[in-house]
Amino acid sequence: MRSIDVDLPGGRVAFSTRQDGVSEGPFESLNLGILTDDVRDRVVRNRMLLMDDLGLSRVAMGRQVHKTAIREWDTAPEPGAMLGEADGHGTTMRGLGLLVLVADCLPVALIGSGRAAMLHCGWRGLAGGIIDKALDSFDEPPAAAIGPGIGQCCYEVGDEVLAQFSSYDDVASGRMLDLRAVARQQLAAAGVDAIEDVDLCTSCRADLFFSHRRDNGVTGRQGGIAWLT
Ligand SMILES: [Zn+2]
Repeated sequence: MRSIDVDLPGGRVAFSTRQDGVSEGPFESLNLGILTDDVRDRVVRNRMLLMDDLGLSRVAMGRQVHKTAIREWDTAPEPGAMLGEADGHGTTMRGLGLLVLVADCLPVALIGSGRAAMLHCGWRGLAGGIIDKALDSFDEPPAAAIGPGIGQCCYEVGDEVLAQFSSYDDVASGRMLDLRAVARQQLAAAGVDAIEDVDLCTSCRADLFFSHRRDNGVTGRQGGIAWLT
């Protein structure tokens, strides 16, 4: 199973797994991250396998830096173009896949009123307000899909991270932070009431996902992809 698919009104979202690709070792097997130590040709092949499954031919992505820049796409990217820094993407183009790569951070998709957005949400992005920033570009609250990410069960953080979320209700138990609950609260506070949450922990589910923390950084990347249909 290469992806977990979510239909939202007006679009589709796919959260890829690590299964049914061609990479080996710590990147076994559907690694989508070229900036890992995996063999580049295998990553390219994995991306093609996934895109074929999803029926997508055009995909936009960025170089992710744990910030809140959201790039707007009104044309598909040129093949082989340099990636600009962006942790989020938005478009009104049908059939253009918006891709973020993750291995514990949450991929969050938004679709509504002829617009799609895909966001890479680690604690820095969530604390920095990337979700609110993306929601500002929608005329009315869209539907949301929250993909697999590290769960509260496995995400111990330090004081400086906990302090970023001290104003939220029930998002931490001791040092264990619930990024998914932070994302849900941010969405709800902005009026998003249709939230599909796959509720899977990347660290617990070694059979399904890469996890940066579990694998001590030597691991692959899965993806979150959203597009308008
Ligand atoms: Zn877990």
